[in-house]
Order: sequence, then structure tokens, then C-alpha cells
Amino acid sequence: MHTDHLLHIDKHHIWHPYTSMTEPLPVYPVARADGVMITLSDGRHLVDGMSSWWAALHGYNHPRLNAAATAQLEQMSHIMFGGLTHEPAVRLTELLLSILPPPLNKVFYADSGSVAVEVAMKMALQYQQAIGQPARNRFAAIRVGYHGDTWHAMSVCDPVTGMHGLFGSSLPVQYFLPQPAVKFGEPWCDEAIEPLRHLLATHGHKIAALIVEPIVQGAGGMYFYSPVYLQQARELCSAHGVLLVFDEIATGFGRTGKLFALEHAGTVPDIVCLGKALTGGYLTLSATITTAQVAEAISSGAAGCFMHGPTFMANPLACAVAAESVAMLLESPWQERIACIEAQLRQDLAVAAEWACVAEVRVLGAIGVIEMKAPVNMASLQARLVAHGIWVRPFGKLVYLMPPFIITPDELAQLTHGLLAALAEEYGATL
Ligand SMILES: *Cc1c(COP(=O)(O)O)cnc(C)c1O
Repeated sequence: MHTDHLLHIDKHHIWHPYTSMTEPLPVYPVARADGVMITLSDGRHLVDGMSSWWAALHGYNHPRLNAAATAQLEQMSHIMFGGLTHEPAVRLTELLLSILPPPLNKVFYADSGSVAVEVAMKMALQYQQAIGQPARNRFAAIRVGYHGDTWHAMSVCDPVTGMHGLFGSSLPVQYFLPQPAVKFGEPWCDEAIEPLRHLLATHGHKIAALIVEPIVQGAGGMYFYSPVYLQQARELCSAHGVLLVFDEIATGFGRTGKLFALEHAGTVPDIVCLGKALTGGYLTLSATITTAQVAEAISSGAAGCFMHGPTFMANPLACAVAAESVAMLLESPWQERIACIEAQLRQDLAVAAEWACVAEVRVLGAIGVIEMKAPVNMASLQARLVAHGIWVRPFGKLVYLMPPFIITPDELAQLTHGLLAALAEEYGATL
């Protein structure tokens, strides 16, 4: 297809994420992607710094994931999950059970992260009803969090930077806690848990669940906080009959240096949501996993079952690729790889912390963040990043890297050096 035609149809007829239909920012047509390399249709190569939003752990066009998808296609691409089951779902479930804390062993598959969050919230409400606590119909969440774009997921996203301003009057009203004041790696201070202690003491009887992104607040702010917050939240939630939900959709599968971010705290939630990297970035699939205790209560409630059942539930193609992706991750030296990426991000990005335009540089696992003092000019910065041969997609004040784990030190150097050079040009800082 001719590029002019492609761009014309795209610009006039296709929505992009959070993008104006009348004055869209430019988009770059992609021809293919292999390993960490994205090839634009004009032949330019970009080193991928985004893993397609946390998802493509093993890079693109991986022979083993391709083979898993092809083999499954030849069996069946999809089959309904009502009354039927299949090996890909069972294989993936066994793998997930082998890496999650043992109490989390009842798995619900859905099609996207946002739906996994909706499912978690419905589970919490059905659980509370089933145990005779119907007044617990609200949720607590942390400011600057992000949990997805569907209705109730939106209601627990940050009320300022999220979409409450737009949809507020028709969104359920939830309770919001300040961001955990103690950053990751800083010494704990008990005051940081006071807002949660106070909320649960005053309104706990109305709250079904607390939902948090453990350790890393992702799309909302790329903020890293103390594991002690999660340990104390666990104790407080248990004491107040509030379920604890960990949204690991961004953090799951190694990104923070642990297989799941909950391992930093050694804390087990009542419900965990997985998505994004679950299929290694191949297909959309999510899982909401809970304990026997929650599952049994829900199943003994008025409905006698959990009231949700997506058409594409446990899609065999997605499950087959997810099982292969998880198996590959576990076979790979992922801890070593992520430790190397972390060390190199720390070393290479440190210089930016000195720049006048930069508020903070922070690194955790395979995530490197440069927080600017003011929102970036997307159109101009994006063009400079592409000109430097790298794919990085800033938002607001946040310019960040989260490359596929298979990136080599040389490729990562291209990414960090390209990023610093693009920022230096944009802001006139000196390298
Ligand atoms: C991306 C994300 C979601 C939403 O997932 P989708 O697949 O985009 O619906 C939810 N929670 C967190 C923490 C995320 O990063």
C-alpha cells in the first residue's frame, strides 16, 4: 500500500489512543518489527524503548512465539469457554500457579487489562455481598494510579490526571489515598501509612477492596514506592475486612526485577490482575486470579457463580502464546538480564539529573524514567527521538525507557544515548 494513501485513511478514519480526530499528532507507519528493531515503512530502523507499552518482553517476531501461535492456529484459533475447555488454558494456568504465591490459585481469563480490573472489582463486590457485607460497595485507590479505561477501572484511576473531570458525574465515587510518601529504597516512616489507617478506621465498613499497583505506579506517574507500604496495607485491609487487589498488569513478568512486584514486599493480595506482558506482547489476554477463600464465598453467594463471561474468554491462541512466553521467560536468565539493564540505565541516564529541565531521574528493574519539570512538546520531541533512531513515547512530563529484556548492551546504549541527545537538542542542555 502506498504510504500517502495509508496515512490519508489513517488520519481521516482511524482513532489513535488519546488522540484528536481533527488535529492528530503525526503517526509513523511501521512495516515490521524483529527483536528490538522496529522498521518503518520508509526503511528507517528504530531501537524499541517501549516494549509496546510493557508487553513485548522477548522482542518482536520471536521464532518460538511464532511457532506456538502457528501450531495453535492449526488446532483451533478460538472456541467458546462455556462448557468447553482446552490444553492451552490449562497449560497456562499450571505455569501461572507455579510462579504466583500459592493462595492465588483461581484464575479468570479475559481479554484486556481493563477488563481484568473490572473483573477484580466485581469479584470484590460479589464476595462482600456473599459474606453478608452488602454495604461494602466502594473502593479505595491511590492517587496518580492507573487501572485502565473502562468504567469502574476509570473510577479508581487518579481523579485529577485521570478522566474524572470529564466523566465524574456518572462515575462511582471512590476513596482516594495520597501517593505512598516513602519512595522505593528509602527508609520506611510510619507516617506514610497513616492516610490508609485513617481511611479504614473511618470508612472501612463501606469499602469492598483497596486496589493498588504494587511498587510501581505505571501510566499514572512512573512512581516507585516502598514495599513496606504494601506489607502494612495487607495487615490493615485484613483487620478491616477489606480485600486487597494488586494490579500487576504493568509490573508482572519481571519488569521490576522480580517476577511479580508483590515479591519485593513478600505480600499476598486477595486478587491479582495480570495482562500486558502475559502473551509477550503478541495478543490481548488478561487474568484475574484470586484465592480459594474468595472464590468459595462468591460461589456460595446469591448468584451461585461469578457473574462474568467474555465471548473470547481464555482464547486458545492467546493462551498458547502466553504459555510459551511465560515458559521462555522462566528458561531465560531474566534476573541477570534485568540487573544488567538496570545498571546500564542507572549509569547512562544519571547525567540528565543535573539538567535544569529535569526534575528527577529514577530507575527500577528494566524501567528508566526521566521526569521533566514541565510537560514535553510531543510533536517536536517525538520527531527528534525518531531522527535518533529510537522509539520512545513520552507522556506529559515523563520520558521513559522500558525495553524488551533481550536488548543487548550496545542496543541499550543506542537507546540511552539517542534519548539524551534528543532531549539535549530539545532543551539546549549540554551533554
Ligand atoms: C495498561 C494497564 C491497565 C489496562 O490494561 P489494558 O489492556 O490497556 O486495558 C490496567 N492497569 C495497569 C496498571 C496498566 O498498566
